[in-house]
Amino acid sequence: MAFHPQDVRFDLDLIMKYAKPAPRYTSYPTAQEFSPAVTEKQWREKVIQSNSRKTPLSLYFHIPFCESACHFCGCNVIITRRKEVVEPYLEHLFREMDIMGSLVDKSRKVVQLHWGGGTPNYLEDDQTVRLMEEIKKRFDFDKDAEISIEIDPRHVSRDRIFLLRDIGFNRVSFGIQDFNPKVQEAVNRIQPEKMIFNVMSWIRD
Ligand code: SF4
Repeated sequence: MAFHPQDVRFDLDLIMKYAKPAPRYTSYPTAQEFSPAVTEKQWREKVIQSNSRKTPLSLYFHIPFCESACHFCGCNVIITRRKEVVEPYLEHLFREMDIMGSLVDKSRKVVQLHWGGGTPNYLEDDQTVRLMEEIKKRFDFDKDAEISIEIDPRHVSRDRIFLLRDIGFNRVSFGIQDFNPKVQEAVNRIQPEKMIFNVMSWIRD
């Protein structure tokens, strides 16, 4: 059926209901829920209480760095080419994992792991391997766990894709906003069609 813009009906009440800033889906609890009203003690108790339900775990790791800014970006991101920012960030992630890993019951298996960003493939090979090793030291994975990563196709090689597979990743996502070169230029994310199809073929391999 053909689409006719003049047939679109707008529900003003619905528009007004959502006409305000909302949290993005990429973190839970969402950033809006963080406040001084929740103390560290309460937070620890909540995590420990959750152990009694024995539910499996989903882990999310945010790698906030990107080499350049896409104009449409709404992510929590730091644009920099100073790769030395990564090591201190990883050290903080390891400390965070130490805290979380010590609270979570070891019998709870990880069924989902996701690295998002930013650009997780901003990390070098050795940093990528090390982060995965440090995660696996602290958490037990279900044998069928979904282990996924977002990549930026502009900054990934075939060898990197195979390395990701070797260390356990079994799902990849990346953004294709538009194939039109003019749009790509306008949004400051130039990734020609050939590049996209190359990266897709490496992933399929
Ligand atoms: S690659 Fe993703 S996170 Fe980085 S600037 Fe572009 S849209 Fe934002």
